[in-house]
Amino acid sequence: MADYDNNNIFAKILRGELPSKKVLETEYAFAFHDINPQAPTHVLVIPKGPYVSMDDFTANASAEEIAGLWRAVGDTARTLGLVEGGYRIMANHGHHAHQEVFHLHVHILGGRPLGPMLEGGDVPPDGTWERTS
Ligand code: AMP
Repeated sequence: MADYDNNNIFAKILRGELPSKKVLETEYAFAFHDINPQAPTHVLVIPKGPYVSMDDFTANASAEEIAGLWRAVGDTARTLGLVEGGYRIMANHGHHAHQEVFHLHVHILGGRPLGPMLEGGDVPPDGTWERTS
Protein backbone atom coordinates (compact mmCIF):
# COMPACT_ATOMS: atom_id res chain seq x y z
CA MET A 1 0.00 0.00 0.00
CA ALA A 2 1.19 3.55 -0.78
CA ASP A 3 2.79 5.78 1.83
CA TYR A 4 0.65 8.13 3.91
CA ASP A 5 -0.51 11.21 1.96
CA ASN A 6 -0.65 14.31 4.18
CA ASN A 7 -3.26 15.81 1.85
CA ASN A 8 -5.89 13.09 2.22
CA ILE A 9 -9.37 14.31 3.21
CA PHE A 10 -9.17 13.17 6.82
CA ALA A 11 -5.74 14.75 7.34
CA LYS A 12 -7.31 18.03 6.17
CA ILE A 13 -10.23 17.54 8.59
CA LEU A 14 -7.77 16.94 11.45
CA ARG A 15 -5.92 20.16 10.57
CA GLY A 16 -9.21 22.07 10.39
CA GLU A 17 -8.78 22.79 6.67
CA LEU A 18 -12.05 21.01 5.85
CA PRO A 19 -15.24 21.18 7.93
CA SER A 20 -16.63 18.23 9.86
CA LYS A 21 -19.45 17.53 12.30
CA LYS A 22 -17.41 16.64 15.37
CA VAL A 23 -18.73 14.16 17.93
CA LEU A 24 -15.71 13.75 20.18
CA GLU A 25 -12.01 14.61 20.32
CA THR A 26 -9.27 13.22 22.55
CA GLU A 27 -5.46 13.37 22.63
CA TYR A 28 -5.35 10.37 20.27
CA ALA A 29 -8.54 10.38 18.23
CA PHE A 30 -11.19 12.44 16.47
CA ALA A 31 -14.79 11.34 15.79
CA PHE A 32 -17.10 12.98 13.25
CA HIS A 33 -20.23 12.22 11.26
CA ASP A 34 -19.82 10.47 7.90
CA ILE A 35 -20.78 12.79 5.03
CA ASN A 36 -22.76 10.01 3.29
CA PRO A 37 -24.43 8.09 6.14
CA GLN A 38 -25.33 4.44 5.56
CA ALA A 39 -27.45 4.24 8.75
CA PRO A 40 -29.33 6.77 10.93
CA THR A 41 -26.10 7.14 12.89
CA HIS A 42 -22.84 6.78 10.96
CA VAL A 43 -19.72 8.19 12.57
CA LEU A 44 -16.04 7.79 11.76
CA VAL A 45 -13.36 7.59 14.44
CA ILE A 46 -9.81 8.30 13.27
CA PRO A 47 -6.43 8.31 14.99
CA LYS A 48 -4.65 11.66 15.08
CA GLY A 49 -1.45 10.00 13.86
CA PRO A 50 -0.70 9.47 10.16
CA TYR A 51 -1.75 5.86 9.55
CA VAL A 52 -2.93 4.67 6.14
CA SER A 53 -5.10 1.81 7.37
CA MET A 54 -5.62 -0.74 10.13
CA ASP A 55 -2.62 -2.66 8.83
CA ASP A 56 -0.27 0.33 9.13
CA PHE A 57 -1.76 1.27 12.52
CA THR A 58 -1.47 -2.14 14.15
CA ALA A 59 2.08 -2.57 12.82
CA ASN A 60 3.43 0.88 13.67
CA ALA A 61 1.34 2.81 16.22
CA SER A 62 2.32 2.96 19.90
CA ALA A 63 0.36 1.11 22.57
CA GLU A 64 -0.97 4.49 23.76
CA GLU A 65 -2.23 5.38 20.28
CA ILE A 66 -3.89 1.99 19.84
CA ALA A 67 -5.55 2.13 23.24
CA GLY A 68 -6.51 5.76 22.62
CA LEU A 69 -8.27 4.98 19.35
CA TRP A 70 -10.28 2.04 20.72
CA ARG A 71 -11.17 3.92 23.91
CA ALA A 72 -12.47 6.72 21.69
CA VAL A 73 -14.55 4.27 19.62
CA GLY A 74 -16.34 3.05 22.75
CA ASP A 75 -16.72 6.55 24.16
CA THR A 76 -18.14 7.78 20.84
CA ALA A 77 -20.75 5.01 20.73
CA ARG A 78 -21.78 5.83 24.31
CA THR A 79 -21.90 9.56 23.51
CA LEU A 80 -24.20 8.80 20.56
CA GLY A 81 -26.55 6.70 22.72
CA LEU A 82 -25.96 3.56 20.68
CA VAL A 83 -25.17 1.10 23.43
CA GLU A 84 -28.67 -0.05 24.29
CA GLY A 85 -29.91 -0.47 20.70
CA GLY A 86 -26.61 -1.84 19.48
CA TYR A 87 -24.08 -0.81 16.88
CA ARG A 88 -21.57 -2.19 14.39
CA ILE A 89 -17.95 -1.15 13.92
CA MET A 90 -16.01 -1.66 10.72
CA ALA A 91 -12.67 -0.64 9.26
CA ASN A 92 -11.86 -1.19 5.59
CA HIS A 93 -8.29 -2.00 4.61
CA GLY A 94 -7.34 -2.05 0.95
CA HIS A 95 -8.91 -3.11 -2.31
CA HIS A 96 -11.15 -6.05 -1.35
CA ALA A 97 -12.72 -3.97 1.42
CA HIS A 98 -13.26 -0.90 -0.82
CA GLN A 99 -11.14 1.44 1.27
CA GLU A 100 -11.59 4.93 -0.22
CA VAL A 101 -9.82 7.25 2.18
CA PHE A 102 -6.26 6.35 3.11
CA HIS A 103 -6.24 7.55 6.69
CA LEU A 104 -7.41 4.80 9.07
CA HIS A 105 -11.04 5.24 10.06
CA VAL A 106 -13.34 3.07 12.15
CA HIS A 107 -16.98 3.27 11.04
CA ILE A 108 -19.62 3.18 13.79
CA LEU A 109 -23.08 2.37 12.43
CA GLY A 110 -26.33 2.22 14.37
CA GLY A 111 -29.78 3.63 14.94
CA ARG A 112 -31.71 0.79 13.26
CA PRO A 113 -31.44 -3.00 12.82
CA LEU A 114 -28.44 -3.38 10.52
CA GLY A 115 -29.20 -6.72 8.85
CA PRO A 116 -26.60 -9.34 7.96
CA MET A 117 -22.95 -8.54 8.44
CA LEU A 118 -22.07 -8.45 4.73
CA GLU A 119 -24.17 -7.69 1.66
CA GLY A 120 -24.41 -10.98 -0.23
CA GLY A 121 -22.33 -12.50 2.50
CA ASP A 122 -24.42 -15.54 3.38
CA VAL A 123 -22.29 -18.64 3.52
CA PRO A 124 -23.33 -20.91 0.61
CA PRO A 125 -24.95 -24.15 1.85
CA ASP A 126 -22.42 -26.27 -0.02
CA GLY A 127 -19.54 -24.34 1.53
CA THR A 128 -18.07 -23.37 -1.83
CA TRP A 129 -16.23 -20.25 -0.73
CA GLU A 130 -13.00 -19.99 -2.60
CA ARG A 131 -10.65 -19.23 0.24
CA THR A 132 -7.80 -16.86 -0.56
CA SER A 133 -5.77 -17.57 2.55
P1 AMP B 1 -14.03 3.75 3.31
O1 AMP B 1 -14.71 3.14 2.13
O2 AMP B 1 -14.01 2.82 4.52
O3 AMP B 1 -12.66 4.30 2.98
O4 AMP B 1 -14.96 4.94 3.78
C1 AMP B 1 -14.72 6.29 3.53
C2 AMP B 1 -15.85 7.04 4.16
O5 AMP B 1 -15.50 8.41 4.26
C3 AMP B 1 -17.16 6.96 3.38
O6 AMP B 1 -18.19 6.43 4.21
C4 AMP B 1 -17.44 8.44 3.00
O7 AMP B 1 -18.80 8.77 3.00
C5 AMP B 1 -16.66 9.17 4.09
N1 AMP B 1 -16.25 10.53 3.75
C6 AMP B 1 -15.61 10.95 2.64
N2 AMP B 1 -15.36 12.28 2.69
C7 AMP B 1 -15.84 12.70 3.89
C8 AMP B 1 -15.90 13.97 4.54
N3 AMP B 1 -15.39 15.08 3.97
N4 AMP B 1 -16.47 14.03 5.76
C9 AMP B 1 -17.00 12.92 6.34
N5 AMP B 1 -16.97 11.71 5.78
C10 AMP B 1 -16.41 11.59 4.57
